[in-house]
Amino acid sequence: MIVVKVGGSEGINLDAVCADVAALWGDGTRLVLVHGGSHLTNEVAQALGHPPRFVTSVSGLTSRRTDRRTLEIFEMVSCGGVNKSIVERLQSDGVNAVGLSGLDGRLLEGKRKDALRIVENGRRMVLRDDYTGKVEKVNTSLLKLLLSERYLPVIAPLAVSYDSEAVNVDGDRAAAAVAVAMCAEALIILSNVPGLLERYPDESTLVREVARDRLEQVMAFAEGRMKMKVLAATEAVGQGVGRVVFADGRVAQPIQRALRGEGTVIH
Ligand code: ADP
Repeated sequence: MIVVKVGGSEGINLDAVCADVAALWGDGTRLVLVHGGSHLTNEVAQALGHPPRFVTSVSGLTSRRTDRRTLEIFEMVSCGGVNKSIVERLQSDGVNAVGLSGLDGRLLEGKRKDALRIVENGRRMVLRDDYTGKVEKVNTSLLKLLLSERYLPVIAPLAVSYDSEAVNVDGDRAAAAVAVAMCAEALIILSNVPGLLERYPDESTLVREVARDRLEQVMAFAEGRMKMKVLAATEAVGQGVGRVVFADGRVAQPIQRALRGEGTVIH
């Protein structure tokens, strides 16, 4: 069983990702796909006159400022747009994919962050009206039910809070939670870079392998959104996922390449 996270950044080749999913699925690999939607959400939010904002937590992680309007835009884009475009591609590749968000069937459940401690212009602030959260529970019986009937789950990164509100969650960490809960042998994180780069954006500085006990050192050169991916990988391998691979989502057969070890392998 493998979990694949496909990013929402510019440059990712969704046709190639879906064709590769279909090939693996056809060969009998059990697979769950988790996706992002960040880039398109930014564009749509801008077009709707509610431009995106990002906040940095006191621990240095960047996340989307998700007020109620932003949550609605994020839902519209990631569940409506991105999810369905992936499901349509998979259907035309012969895979009976089912699109879900973490809200559906309480697939991903967790705590809404009632107070987000951020740093803005050097000042510490607390945000209380943010709709973000962290996945703490995965409804594995729903995933197993779908997989046992040969439906491929495609998951948009929203979760349901314990008070049954929709919350925006980080896609990489949601994929890590799914991989842990499903005891996946691998978690493949596809993005618009070949993997973790020691000197971003110099692609010749690709880090080929990272042992789990070196992940903290690696955090030093992971910037911005890459920090979240390293954190997700730490959570996954720390809780039993065989390996995590950060790999290039712009190329042909991106998943099969990642499974052969192309990219950054964390074990
Ligand atoms: P996605 O939307 O595909 O999940 P993200 O934008 O969240 O992708 O994360 C990938 C981005 O992380 C890259 O496009 C790059 O701009 C950035 N990044 C920061 N530091 C690094 C690094 N050390 N190695 C690779 N990418 C990095």
